[in-house]
Amino acid sequence: MPLANGRTYLAIPGPSVVPERVLGAMHAPSPNIYDGPLIDMVDTLYPDLKAVAKTGGQVAIYIGNGHGAWEAALSNVASRGDQILVLATGAFGIGWAEAATGLGIRAKVLDFGKQSGLDLAQVSAVLSKDKSHKIKAVMCVHADTATSLKIDIAALRACIDQSDHPALLMVDCIASLGCDAFEMDKWGVDVTVAASQKGLMLPPGLFFIFFNEKADVAHKSADLTTPYWNWTPRADADKFYRKFCGTAPTHHLLGLRVALDMLVKEEGIANVWERHEKLARSVWAALDVWGADGPVAMNVKTPALRSCAVTTVNIGAPLGTKLRKWVEENTGVTLGISLGMADADDPAWHGYFRIAHMGHVNAHMTLGVLGVIEAGLSALDIPHGRGALDAAAAIISKA
Ligand SMILES: *Cc1c(COP(=O)(O)O)cnc(C)c1O
Repeated sequence: MPLANGRTYLAIPGPSVVPERVLGAMHAPSPNIYDGPLIDMVDTLYPDLKAVAKTGGQVAIYIGNGHGAWEAALSNVASRGDQILVLATGAFGIGWAEAATGLGIRAKVLDFGKQSGLDLAQVSAVLSKDKSHKIKAVMCVHADTATSLKIDIAALRACIDQSDHPALLMVDCIASLGCDAFEMDKWGVDVTVAASQKGLMLPPGLFFIFFNEKADVAHKSADLTTPYWNWTPRADADKFYRKFCGTAPTHHLLGLRVALDMLVKEEGIANVWERHEKLARSVWAALDVWGADGPVAMNVKTPALRSCAVTTVNIGAPLGTKLRKWVEENTGVTLGISLGMADADDPAWHGYFRIAHMGHVNAHMTLGVLGVIEAGLSALDIPHGRGALDAAAAIISKA
């Protein structure tokens, strides 16, 4: 008998779970966009967004999703024909490179595959060869949601500096902001892009571009900038409507205020990171035990290279799809599909699934997801090691 009735849980890496309080704040009559409390409230969002990204730079708020963020960020700093270097550790890095190419930017991609981090020697070789500094920016994805690989941004910055190269460092933090530790200024990131529907706990619909002084200097000569994507009026507008280049995304902004209250003012961003890390470690502990006797295997073998927001699992085709379906139909939990690990028409595609532990999640939700996966493994007679839930609970119970 299916046991899916009750509250469902979308455990995919975005859109993530929206807190009731955020939904509640959005359940409101349309606020006045010319006068009144919304205008003052919006001013309070900027410092709190910067606190999440750990930057003293500026931030622009846009209506759009992550793909919009990729284009907007590029259009603010690059000109047609410019060269950029993209460091790919999964499908999202490749996606950002494709966005660049579509804008008329010449993107060189260093693809590090789906299971390992950056090889900084390769990065440094490319940058050192670029004596005339044609490469305008180095772009990477902090945590690639397809592979669940996380890269060491501070080490990448050090590598760029050692190569004595002036390229901007642009980082996609769409899946990591508000999940994995990220320090924009300390790590020397010039442009950070993020979106509302992952660690920031809102529905899809907003994206954010954080930029520093160096990126703003590059912006002055970027010929791809258009009036709509231009970050200058958005980050520093004298008039309210210029912040959004038109009608403000009223209800998303109401929700964002509450989400930032929760992240910055109530829990504190360091605690948010720690919560994600601990929940992630409980997931990895369970996967290690299941994998000890059977086909379950984490895609990323080195713990330091794992995202704390999502874990990509390879269980062999067709078991990934079978398990996802069983879990959704019988328990009310939806797991993430394979993304970029194999082509969608390749049978191997059905070997993967992803577990999100991103955003508004806590111990009971994460242990619940692990519990229903355990049930699915048993129901489908998929061999697996015993004691995974004990191992996960042991992580949770340690102070
Ligand atoms: C989700 C995601 C994106 C794309 O966001 P969309 O809103 O789907 O366009 C880009 N990069 C990363 C790392 C993501 O996780």
